[in-house]
Amino acid sequence: MKYKCEKCGNDHLFYNEVSLLAKQLICNEESAMNGEIVDKTDEVSNTYEIVYCYQCSEVVDSGELY
Ligand SMILES: [Zn+2]
Repeated sequence: MKYKCEKCGNDHLFYNEVSLLAKQLICNEESAMNGEIVDKTDEVSNTYEIVYCYQCSEVVDSGELY
C-alpha cells in the first residue's frame, strides 16, 4: 500500500509508532535515577497501526477499516 500525505504532499517517508523493551529504574531512595529509562533495546515489542507522515506528523492511515 502506498501512502501520501494530503497535508504536506510527502509521498516518500512515513512511520508507525512502536514500543521498545527497556528498563525503568525503581529506586527506594530519593534519587534522580528513579524512573530513569535504561538499557533500551532495538527489539520492538509492539507496533501500532496508525501511520504518520514523517515530514509533518499528520496521520495518513488511522488503521481503522471502513
Ligand atoms: Zn505530511
